[in-house]
Amino acid sequence: MSLRIGQGVDVHAFADGRKLILGGVPIPHTRGLAGHSDADVLTHAVCDAFLGAAGLGDIGHFFPDTDDRYKDANSLELLAEVMRHVVRNGWKVINVDATVLAQAPKLAPHMPEMRANLARTIGVDASCINIKASTTEHLGFAGRKEGIAAIAVALLGAGPDVS
Ligand code: MG
Repeated sequence: MSLRIGQGVDVHAFADGRKLILGGVPIPHTRGLAGHSDADVLTHAVCDAFLGAAGLGDIGHFFPDTDDRYKDANSLELLAEVMRHVVRNGWKVINVDATVLAQAPKLAPHMPEMRANLARTIGVDASCINIKASTTEHLGFAGRKEGIAAIAVALLGAGPDVS
């Protein structure tokens, strides 16, 4: 059996007049995240974790923010495209673990839907997807509520022992 691990990190700044989308879930909040796409920082980190594990580069290479096709793009659709590349390269998903760093809003009520969205898009059972949230105890840009960061790790496997 062959195993590959990848990690992804993303940050987006808060901006007025934007929706806050995390894991494909619109989350009620005073502000959203700025970005060329829907600025779904969690889904972007997950995309980069998969691209890293598969040795395929990064999300900026696949979906440049200079390309109008990705203006206000639904990031779950970007993740679906990433997964097509991962599967085409012969990999199966073992698990994903991600952490969202946000001082506000509270994310716990939205976790089940975020997890279900990612699992459906990745094509695995929700038990293979874990999402955590943490504040930064008011420290740094996330703590000052200037933006949100996300970190993700993905494990891929190939071979007869990978179900
Ligand atoms: Mg991003």
